[in-house]
Amino acid sequence: TEALLARAEASASLGAFLHLDREHALARAAQADAAFAAGTAGPLTGVPLAHKDIYVTADMPTTAGSKMLKGYRSPFDATVVARLNAAGTVSLGKLNCDEFAMGSANENSAYGPVSNPWDVSRVPGGSSGGSAAAVAARLVPASTGTDTGGSIRQPASFCGITGIKPTYGVCSRYGMIAFASSLDQAGPMARSAEDCALLLSTMSGFDERDATSVNRPPQDFHAQMLAVRQGATAAQPLKGLRIGLPKEFFPAGLTADVNAAVRAGLAELEKLGATLVDVSLPRTELAIPVYYIIAPAEASSNLSRFDGVKFGHRAAQYTDLLDMYKKTRAEGFGPEVKRRIMIGTYVLSHGYYDAYYLQAQKLRRMIADDFQQCFQSCDLIAGPVAPSVAWKHGAGKDDPTAAYLADIFTLPGSLAGLPGMSVPVGTGDAGLPVGLQLIGNYFQEGQLLHAAHALQ
Ligand code: GLN
Repeated sequence: TEALLARAEASASLGAFLHLDREHALARAAQADAAFAAGTAGPLTGVPLAHKDIYVTADMPTTAGSKMLKGYRSPFDATVVARLNAAGTVSLGKLNCDEFAMGSANENSAYGPVSNPWDVSRVPGGSSGGSAAAVAARLVPASTGTDTGGSIRQPASFCGITGIKPTYGVCSRYGMIAFASSLDQAGPMARSAEDCALLLSTMSGFDERDATSVNRPPQDFHAQMLAVRQGATAAQPLKGLRIGLPKEFFPAGLTADVNAAVRAGLAELEKLGATLVDVSLPRTELAIPVYYIIAPAEASSNLSRFDGVKFGHRAAQYTDLLDMYKKTRAEGFGPEVKRRIMIGTYVLSHGYYDAYYLQAQKLRRMIADDFQQCFQSCDLIAGPVAPSVAWKHGAGKDDPTAAYLADIFTLPGSLAGLPGMSVPVGTGDAGLPVGLQLIGNYFQEGQLLHAAHALQ
């Protein structure tokens, strides 16, 4: 813990941490030492990590990357954080992210951008950019992230680490500041599938305080990851595994370097015994407009709670209540958040609801059905995480919606609520990392982790 604290302090220019808590971390590490001495230590006792600043924490401030929550302190811990705490992990602090998790480059944080440790002139991806950069820069061996439309998988890909977004409902959303409630999921980001499996087993599980939490027995994802497949051999641990390649995930616009690295990863999976089959997700492109209607719609509703009354920022001067709301929200929210609140309010308003929101919901169902069609002929789906490697800081400045298009491969799985992960498969242009995306059917996290582990 001391070594990592020193490393994180020396790496402050990366912008990964919003709050580094030396005192808290050392106290927790001492508790872990005591657990080891008493013989009560578990597999995660004393493991240093850090949390995306979208999880509320009682012992540290929580900002969600927004000025709106500057100085906010929650009276309780998010369930995911509480479970990792109970397992004896040592939190070093809170990690930078896009404001309310809206973004793909971690340039929408009110507290400054995060840089990619592979090349500091580039973005780490987003919105869990601090979580990915901190693991890639070896400031922590693992971190928590959240994924609404790709925010675990895409920064993991850009930073060359491993991340998994489980099936919607596997991890509790209690205490995760809500962006788009029907899409938000928690997940671990770490150096390997094995580390992710250990963390996910602890983070997941039923929580009666989240109405969308799935009530099923606790899962040992590590054991599922290690389980030997029927018919597998030592040389071919993935024998019999059918991996579907949706043709829409390999469009002409995919950069050559990403295509090559992903194909190399697929060839490796074949060597391990997997069979590659052609499948189709015909509505892949539609996932972009569908997501950018549904997510802002839910965000506009979720963010209405930031009114200057209950918590967070309040404008210093105002004439009446309405003026206070207006000034507070004008000052507290950044441009991307305002853009989404306006889009969301528009698509939900009378007269537009049927034309946009209802249509998007219908298409969402069709996108989910397309996946079930694919899973008739394959066990897992594979493709790129993102169409390119990490881009330069400032590249998206002139067209704020251009980055939306780069979410094309992560959004379909999110809309369907399916588990997905990013596994590093080499480097592309400028020596930057490329991630392979694996998508499984509902609750097939074990299979995803098994394939990723075999690859690593
Ligand atoms: N890039 C997507 C967005 O901006 C996804 C974000 C996320 O998953 N939190 O909405």
